[in-house]
Amino acid sequence: MAFYRTCPDCGAHLDPGEQCTCHDEDVIRRQEKEKAEQRIMKMIKEERNGQLRLAV
Ligand SMILES: [Zn+2]
Repeated sequence: MAFYRTCPDCGAHLDPGEQCTCHDEDVIRRQEKEKAEQRIMKMIKEERNGQLRLAV
């Protein structure tokens, strides 16, 4: 008898005890996106400060 679990999110067939990585990838992707957005916001702030500093 085939016994496997199905990931409720991506539908992948998992062996018993196997953990689907779709959540990990999703979380990692989201964290990287947030990090990238924070980096851009930081760059914009620093650029503004840098321009002010350079102007002085
Ligand atoms: Zn999955």
